[in-house]
Amino acid sequence: MHQPPVPHLAQADPEVARLVEAEAKRQYEKIRLIPSENYVSAAVLEATGTVLTNKYSEGYAGRRYYEGQQLIDPLETLAVERARAVFGVDHANVQPYSGSPANLAVYLAFCQPGETVMGMALPMGGHLTHGWNVSATGRWFRSVQYGVRKETGRIDMDEVRELALRERPKLIFCGGTAIPRTIDFAAFAEVAREVDAILVADIAHIAGLIAGGAHPSPVGHAQVISTTTHKTLRGPRGAMLMSDAEHAKALDKAVFPGLQGGPHNHTTAAIAVALGEAAQPAFRDYAHAVVANARALAEALLERGYDLVSGGTDNHLILVDLTNRGIGGKPAAQALDRAGIELNYNTVPYDPRKPFDPSGIRLGTPAITTRGLGVEQMPTIAGWIDRAIRATAEEDEASIERIATEVRELLDAYPMPGWA
Ligand SMILES: *Cc1c(COP(=O)(O)O)cnc(C)c1O
Repeated sequence: MHQPPVPHLAQADPEVARLVEAEAKRQYEKIRLIPSENYVSAAVLEATGTVLTNKYSEGYAGRRYYEGQQLIDPLETLAVERARAVFGVDHANVQPYSGSPANLAVYLAFCQPGETVMGMALPMGGHLTHGWNVSATGRWFRSVQYGVRKETGRIDMDEVRELALRERPKLIFCGGTAIPRTIDFAAFAEVAREVDAILVADIAHIAGLIAGGAHPSPVGHAQVISTTTHKTLRGPRGAMLMSDAEHAKALDKAVFPGLQGGPHNHTTAAIAVALGEAAQPAFRDYAHAVVANARALAEALLERGYDLVSGGTDNHLILVDLTNRGIGGKPAAQALDRAGIELNYNTVPYDPRKPFDPSGIRLGTPAITTRGLGVEQMPTIAGWIDRAIRATAEEDEASIERIATEVRELLDAYPMPGWA
């Protein structure tokens, strides 16, 4: 049953309630390896389901455009103060609706349409909002893109520097969605300084690792830090923008009134709760366990002959190039889903195949680590992945079903917040 239970929903709208219950069960029964996903705590879940969703609060604490902010102001201030403490930043804005609008606010704060910006190309591991051509950020700005070296699968800082010197971007984004290696914020900062650009560290994927001390922090290197709150940070779907004192005002103005109306106060409450959790010693253990699990899973896949982009991982994420297995990323991901193992198909750098049918799969350990799985289970998971991929080639659906049963049996020993 969904936990906390949803009796009013079940009564008032059984159709929606049934889907919610079924989704909770699905999340309980699957090995969830999508590296941008997690399981939030029951406390975070409860906070998102509160009466705060009823309230309008355009503006910032002490400067609102609606009355009745006696309790919203201290709540938002609490979230902001916790963000400042957890990440050690001068300034935090917890109002962006999600990661993409947060990034758009950064452009609005510091760039005019048509000006040059620089980010990592989407097929190399960057995010759409770092100037990729189908995104508004690639259409409304003159975007130049860096990638990774073909031989190493890693960012080449010499290439980044050359591109920056040639193109003189106003903004440089670092961070991405499919980067299995540590981001060298200091090296990016040096390049940004040299061309007088603002460095934006988009830590959406790794915010929880940074909060827990399992990845170096961009603070002191990047003037602006953008993050979602729902990935490794293990909060509700939302985002934050953080910065040094100098860039604070421009960011706040860009979020509101530049881009958004009222903040989602129920989300703000849940962000505060998640940041409270991230400040606990147990969260440090969690962040380090995420990385240890990813390393162990990467090793177990390498042992089974899988080709990992960059040869392994430093963080929570693994990118597998399936070319040497004779199967595309999409059929592999679909078969794995039937086997109870949820991940996503993904482009690999220099992928000869199309984005909708690419060569790779992307997986990670934030969610299974929250569930309590440890390094000792990683070879089992790698074994299941391997068996399912082989079974797909042999069209052996019975094997795939057997794996799904074994997955369910294993996960029965690992509780899930949100299901009881
Ligand atoms: C997830 C992600 C985003 C976008 O977040 P949404 O909440 O999906 O809009 C932005 N940047 C990076 C690097 C991300 O990984």
